[in-house]
Amino acid sequence: MGLAEITERIAKAEASAGRDAGSVTLIAVSKVQPDARVEAVLGEGHRVFGENRVQEAAGKWPDFRERFDGIDLHLIGPLQTNKARTAFELFQSIHSLDRPKLANTFARLAQETGACPELFVQVNTGEEPQKAGVLPADADSFIEDCRALDLPIRGLMCIPPLEEEPSLHFALLAKIAARNGLAGLSMGMSGDFERAIALGATHVRVGSAIFGERTQG
Ligand SMILES: *Cc1c(COP(=O)(O)O)cnc(C)c1O
Repeated sequence: MGLAEITERIAKAEASAGRDAGSVTLIAVSKVQPDARVEAVLGEGHRVFGENRVQEAAGKWPDFRERFDGIDLHLIGPLQTNKARTAFELFQSIHSLDRPKLANTFARLAQETGACPELFVQVNTGEEPQKAGVLPADADSFIEDCRALDLPIRGLMCIPPLEEEPSLHFALLAKIAARNGLAGLSMGMSGDFERAIALGATHVRVGSAIFGERTQG
């Protein structure tokens, strides 16, 4: 696989869903990948990347940014409140807004810095106890609270349970987004991004299918 093949498959999935070419953003998930692989994808001209740990991202992206222009970095993993400030400095988008305490911290940082990354509210569509995200039943009120704090909510994000058909979860996420007037849908990974695009994904998060299998994490 690799970047070119994934880009082509995304274009095909957009076309067969009757969606505009380029309506889906490919987030290349570079977590725990060797720098050389990430650099190769940067060298091919790709600029949108995803990381799931603030610390790891802080260790590698400032260097890449010195050498490549226009990098658009997305945080797709859970965020501790005490790392929110660093996350604000590093990331253009955060996909893991999932609790009031974090929303309040973001609102305070946005006030203080005069800027805020684009935000996605993570929804725990499978209601898995070990997984982050607001429960589907709590999503509407949480989104409302975030808006009351003036946070720039771009859309919703989900990670479907491993053992279930992801399409059901993508459809549920799309429904919650639609009734809240949210345009962004961050859903779909290496194994299911075409199904996510068919159900309206605007951001797909693809790691191993671009970079190869991860050796850890
Ligand atoms: C690692 C990760 C991905 C990418 O997974 P692949 O199966 O390698 O495409 C997508 N989303 C999140 C939240 C992840 O942590």
